[in-house]
Amino acid sequence: MIDANIIVVGGGCAGMQLINALLKLPAEQTGEILLIESNQTIIHKSWCFWTNKQSEYDFLVEKYWSELKFCSSTSELSGIISPYRYNYINSEKFFEYHNQLIQNSSRVRVVSEEVIKFKSDNDLKQVHTLNNMYVAKHVYNSTIDHSFVDCTKILLWQHFKGWFIKTDREVFSVDQATIMDFNIPQDQAAHFMYVLPFSKTEALIEFTSFSKQDCYSDEVYDSYLKGYISSKFDCPYEIIREEKGKIPMTDFDFSARDKEGIIQIGSAGGAVKPSTGYAFNRISRHTKYLIECFLNNNESIINSNSSSRFHFYDTLLLQIIRDQPEMVSKIMDQLFVNNSFLKILSFLDERSKLFEEFSLFSTLPKRLFLKQVLKYVHAKL
Ligand SMILES: Cc1cc2nc3c(=O)[nH]c(=O)nc-3n(C[C@H](O)[C@H](O)[C@H](O)COP(=O)(O)OP(=O)(O)OC[C@H]3O[C@@H](n4cnc5c(N)ncnc54)[C@H](O)[C@@H]3O)c2cc1C
Repeated sequence: MIDANIIVVGGGCAGMQLINALLKLPAEQTGEILLIESNQTIIHKSWCFWTNKQSEYDFLVEKYWSELKFCSSTSELSGIISPYRYNYINSEKFFEYHNQLIQNSSRVRVVSEEVIKFKSDNDLKQVHTLNNMYVAKHVYNSTIDHSFVDCTKILLWQHFKGWFIKTDREVFSVDQATIMDFNIPQDQAAHFMYVLPFSKTEALIEFTSFSKQDCYSDEVYDSYLKGYISSKFDCPYEIIREEKGKIPMTDFDFSARDKEGIIQIGSAGGAVKPSTGYAFNRISRHTKYLIECFLNNNESIINSNSSSRFHFYDTLLLQIIRDQPEMVSKIMDQLFVNNSFLKILSFLDERSKLFEEFSLFSTLPKRLFLKQVLKYVHAKL
């Protein structure tokens, strides 16, 4: 017996974007949708992404910046990024909106259970939880277990801690976000700060590390944050809220479907860009694509998120972060000094053309990248 036409496993960023898109279709097309989510509490995250056109979630964008800044120990660069906008969404608002949407819909049923395995039974898919088994025609899974990343693959971490602070003086430029400031101690990893100002006295200041470790102690994060705030802004402040998190950075080749034919979405479908950790926009694009495949009854051709060319570039950078993390700030410095913000955003968004990528790579340390290409080839043999 079928429990729903569609099961979505995991009501996070990808699961909710998919449900939102499905609910825009007529009920006869989607049939009943079952959402299985194990977590009952809303997780606070700050999602930033850039767009140059209208996006589905514009109405949730709390703040956007039209100017970006990059800093290193030797450079301080800023640039207007129009027609792009660098957007900020607070995940609490994102989940409030989607939870309301689900509550108002008679099409979506939610169960709070932990999924443990998937099975395929002819054209039907089974989702097993600790106590039940659910059956549907279409299953989209956004849960992920990183232990399957085998030892031949790179697994590093982007981990961070940020403080939302309120200063007692006006110190922030409200129209300008600092996306990377490498002018902080690098130690055994690649470290940078970013600053997202919401007003002249309020900002999110976040310390980020790309490293083999998946976290530091609070004392370490706090000392970076305190040191940066006092050296940059030098005024009394209050910490309103803090956020912490980690994102895997891996060259693991996420497939669009697992061996049981379950469609993988979000991080599980490779939506997190390995070299940057950005995923929100990639999830939105993938959601549109999944809906097209669903409408055309063509799920067998579903592709995962990244093209092989960009997967290759990402792997080279991951190799550098793993083997020579001290070089990351130098590479970023050369990237930003020699290329416009627009060019870099389009490259990071995987929208650039091959000749633009050659031109961009020609501005980076050539011997270092050549060495990475050889390492890459060697690892494949
Ligand atoms: C702190 C943080 C900040 C980030 N900031 C940005 C950013 O600024 N910009 C950007 O583009 N990207 C950012 N990302 C990356 C990316 O956008 C997020 O990781 C995004 O949440 C990925 O969506 P997802 O649906 O794949 O995973 P999630 O949002 O994690 O959703 C997975 C869901 O599955 C549920 N689940 C897990 N296991 C089970 C199970 N066994 N059974 C049932 N349910 C289960 C979880 O409870 C969760 O709700 C950030 C990530 C983190 C962690």
